[in-house]
Amino acid sequence: MQFKVVIAGRPNVGKSALFNRLLGRRRSLVHNLPGMTRDVLEAEASLPDERIYRLVDTGGFDPEGREPIPKAVREKALAAIRGADLVVLVMDASAGVLPGDRAAARAAREAGADTIVAANKIDRKEGSEGEVEAWELGFPEVYGVSAEHAVGVDDIQTAIAARMSASSSEGISTERTEDRSADGSAEIALAVVGRPNVGKSSLINALLGREQAIVSEIPGTTRDSVDAVLVHAGRRFRLVDTAGIRRKSRTERGPEVLSVVSARKRIEESDVVLLVLDANEGVAAQDSAVASAAYETGKGLVLIGNKWDLAGRPGEEAAKEFAATVEERLPFATHAPLLLASARTGRGISRVLDTAARVAENRRRRITTGELNRVLGRPLRDKPPRTVSGKRLKVFYVAQTGSAPPTFTLVANRAEALHFSEARRIENIVRKAADFGGSPIRISIRGRAQTKKSKVQGPRSKGEGQRKRSKPRVEKEK
Ligand code: GDP
Repeated sequence: MQFKVVIAGRPNVGKSALFNRLLGRRRSLVHNLPGMTRDVLEAEASLPDERIYRLVDTGGFDPEGREPIPKAVREKALAAIRGADLVVLVMDASAGVLPGDRAAARAAREAGADTIVAANKIDRKEGSEGEVEAWELGFPEVYGVSAEHAVGVDDIQTAIAARMSASSSEGISTERTEDRSADGSAEIALAVVGRPNVGKSSLINALLGREQAIVSEIPGTTRDSVDAVLVHAGRRFRLVDTAGIRRKSRTERGPEVLSVVSARKRIEESDVVLLVLDANEGVAAQDSAVASAAYETGKGLVLIGNKWDLAGRPGEEAAKEFAATVEERLPFATHAPLLLASARTGRGISRVLDTAARVAENRRRRITTGELNRVLGRPLRDKPPRTVSGKRLKVFYVAQTGSAPPTFTLVANRAEALHFSEARRIENIVRKAADFGGSPIRISIRGRAQTKKSKVQGPRSKGEGQRKRSKPRVEKEK
């Protein structure tokens, strides 16, 4: 089956012009008359890399039905949207977001279609404001284009290309990870990692041995690996490569560097990392390498201070001290909850899975664009954030452009990475607005064209919000 891209939007936003641009050579007439309607057009289009896809132009789609469009034509357009692999929702950036655009967005959303927004006519004076407004439609990707002047059309093609390769490589492990935990009831994959002898096997045994846990062993994703699946409080958890942890493989006993490698593999397979520490030995360099691997791969993180039964001193004081050590030694983990536990006595173990589930949920959390701009609007206006080179950014708009891990995009007057302290400031505000505990947060900057001639899509760059932030929380034991 050919990959199907459907162009939709209210009348006169430039759908036909974009259709013709994407088709390239085979140009047809572009209608300019207001209210001009056509039937659904279909053609074969090709990407710059020669791959072929089916392109559909729903020329007559007026979601509000105010234009005199025959019902049959509208129905055809809706059917096209329902059958789309990707909808390119075109809006007129020079006109801003109008009710018709919202209605078209609603139609795409109701059809459950993967949708990107093409904010067209950005060559016009009011175009760049409108492009920023287009985020309001609530889709994670907005591209400023000028179909008439062939600006930004390559970005649309890149977005199409990315989907085509993703759909042709079904079954790769990252996709499975996404599917497995797409909602709260789905499986949560956990990677138990930590230095040799901190108590990983003991922790796994304690988790699997709990009453009411229903356990089964299933093949893991890599050769010879075995995962354990358990059900707790109505949720499925998959402990990645338990056999490898229990086997005490040579890498476990060997140089530390090798055990970081095996930990990395497990981390990649997971949604949430359980980093086991020996609460009596403190934190080693290897622990910090593992915490940073969890951060870099965008995974959730729960810290477990194991062997707490051996901490021979008054609980409260020792707990504070340990938390302080963790904060100092694990700068990539300040967002992570810290549990004090004992795999031997079972203390604190009951909280491990519930905490991991909460972190998995936080990692998939989304905040609405409205809420985001409500909490960030004023702080960013009052004190425009500095970039790495010390320039002030004028931020027009903020949108959450991804989850797992939550990713926020600042649309600003230039695309330059934030100074780390500014990334931290913004991250702290976002973390106050909603519970992202245990999950890393990404902040990226997108530049917006300021003049007719400047490039529309600035490069996307990551902020560096990974320094020390808020204090790690010590979770009270039960
Ligand atoms: P792994 O190498 O990380 O899998 O560590 P193990 O689970 O094999 O544990 C190493 C040693 O620490 C074993 O002798 C365990 O019995 C012991 N151990 C594990 N957890 C605890 C704990 O919470 N308290 C105490 N006192 N000992 C523990």
